[in-house]
Amino acid sequence: MIFSRELSILNVMEPIVSNIFEDHFVKAGILTCACEKCQIDIVLLALNHLPPRYTSSQAGEAYIKATYQEPQLQSDVLRELAKAVKVIEERPNH
Ligand SMILES: [Zn+2]
Repeated sequence: MIFSRELSILNVMEPIVSNIFEDHFVKAGILTCACEKCQIDIVLLALNHLPPRYTSSQAGEAYIKATYQEPQLQSDVLRELAKAVKVIEERPNH
């Protein structure tokens, strides 16, 4: 590996999608099944339908916060999460 631990590559969509999922679906208690497997499958499915946004982990936190504030991004993430919830609820892998 040519990168040090401090300078790894980060797809900021990973923490953003996880956070939005947590806030809008898990905490809202609207999931048919909230087991760990279903939660991970939903986040993975949504991430696979959203373009990645890469940064170095060093730029990390500030970039994540700025990206998180983008209204268009939030609505894209919510839309993909809602679709993913439907798919996984119909075909759970737990
Ligand atoms: Zn489940």
